[in-house]
Order: sequence, then structure tokens, then C-alpha cells
Amino acid sequence: MGHRLLYRHPDSSVGSSTPRPCAPTVISVRDCVAVGGTDIVLIAGPCAVEGRDMLLDTARAVRRAGACMLRGGAYKPRTSPYDFRGLGEDALAMLVEARAATDLPIVTEIMDPRHVDRMHGVADVLQIGARNMQNYPLLDEVGRVTTPVLLKRGLSATIRELLLAAEYVLAAGNPTVILCERGIRTFETGTRNTLDISAIPVLKSETHLPVIVDPSHASGRAALVTPLALAAIAAGADGLLVEVHPCPRDAKSDGDQSLTPVAFADLVRRADAVATAVGRRLMPNAAEWRRTLIAGVACPA
Ligand code: PEP
Ligand code: MN
Repeated sequence: MGHRLLYRHPDSSVGSSTPRPCAPTVISVRDCVAVGGTDIVLIAGPCAVEGRDMLLDTARAVRRAGACMLRGGAYKPRTSPYDFRGLGEDALAMLVEARAATDLPIVTEIMDPRHVDRMHGVADVLQIGARNMQNYPLLDEVGRVTTPVLLKRGLSATIRELLLAAEYVLAAGNPTVILCERGIRTFETGTRNTLDISAIPVLKSETHLPVIVDPSHASGRAALVTPLALAAIAAGADGLLVEVHPCPRDAKSDGDQSLTPVAFADLVRRADAVATAVGRRLMPNAAEWRRTLIAGVACPA
């Protein structure tokens, strides 16, 4: 209990308004991925788990391209109740299998506070989606476990509201929160949402938590995902969350913004160059680590 989030607390009634130095929080996932350190973490996979084969194919492809975690929704928040809402528990079993096959830790969305036990052993990171950023019973519940939480910014949430939502999780006892900028609703109709690039340096200076960016939901269009991803890295993001589908045309959700595995591999190549330009590097995934070890090269700290 009692973790505190901010250098400068957004609500002066609960904390000091004086900036104070604080070391960045580096969140370890399954002891093989560190989020918030110098390395940039790539999380990729389908919007929704649609079946065993597509998940395994995607997991293998994103691992080959350089992702170090696999995303995939089992429970999908959909605007229309008649849209595909995820395969639920069947999808959780598929995620476990995909992790065993690839060594990639799993990021998956939790929508219901009653699902915490059911997600245990499956989710290495519990995603809280934009629509649930202010679902306080859910924030309290994930605050009671030790699994890291990926908290997405609400559709129309201010940075302060995002930070106070994160504070719920910390105050309930879980200090491992990854903040995610995924675009906000503006007057602009050219993109699904507007990526708030400024949120990255603001959040990095206001908190000690890792900040990642989801260029897929921010743009809504596959052609825009890579440019936004590169901009996010240049602006200081600690990672990316990218939707990848083996055949985006056939996707049951978010096909328009999903990259093919080939396009994702291209994103990774270009992200690597931008990371180097800003003095960082992409975190190697488990497969790469193993290759490095087999080659007899010293294991990075
Ligand atoms: C998702 O990641 O698939 C998702 C539903 O994202 P958001 O909550 O940001 O809309
Ligand atoms: Mn999606």
C-alpha cells in the first residue's frame, strides 16, 4: 500500500507540488523484459486473438521481426455489442500456448475486476483499455496484484486524469504501471484519434513510470503507424504497442490499422535507426538473447 506516483503530484491535496528527483521505475516482466530502462520495448500482435493458428503465426512472425512481448485481446471492448467481442477463456489458453512456443511474455486486456484470478498465469502484463481508464473498481483490483499494468489513456482524458488513474493502481499497492499514450479524441477526422506526442515528454518529466505509445489506435490506418511509431521513439517513448495481423483484410477487429508481419519488420528496422539516433536501442527479445549466448557473447546486464 501507499506507493506514490509523481515527481509533482497533479492533485496538491494529496502530495507535494514541489518537484523532487526520483529514479525512473523499471518494470521487469517475466525476468526477461525491462520496461522503462534504456532499451525500447516492442510489443506486437493482433488486436484480438481470433484463433490458435493465427495467433501462433503472428507470435512467431513478430518475434522474428524483433518484438519482445506479444499482445492479443481475449476480451474486447467494442463500441457495438454486435461486433466481435473476443474468444474469452479460449483465447487465454491460446495465449498461454503462444507464450510457450515463442517465449514472448503476454500483454492482454482485462475489462472486468472479477477476471483477475482467471487472468493470473496468463497475463504477464494486464492491459487496461482506454474505455476503462477511469473504471475505479478495476483500477483498485489490479492494484491488489503484482502483475504489471499497462494503463491506456482514456479517449478524452487529460494527462492529469491519466496520472490520477495510475495513482489508483499505485495507491492500492501495485507500483508497476506502464503508461500508454494511444491518441485522444479531437476535432480532426483525418485520423481515428490524434496522437498527443507532447504527452510523452510531459509524462516522462512528471512521473517516474515508463511511457509507451500505441501508434495503431492513435492513427487508425496502417500507413500511418510507422511514421507515428518513429516520432514516438524520437520523442522519448520507452516502447511501442503495435497491432499486427497475418491478413489485416480479414481481421475481426481493427484490420484497417493492423500491419502485416512484413510491414512490422520494416517498422522495426526503421525504429532501430531512430533509437540509435536518440542514444537508445531496441530491446532484444528472448530468441535474440539466446542466439547471443550461443554465440558466446557476454550477456548484457
Ligand atoms: C486495444 O488495444 O485493442 C484497444 C482496444 O485499445 P484502446 O483501449 O486504446 O482503444
Ligand atoms: Mn485494437
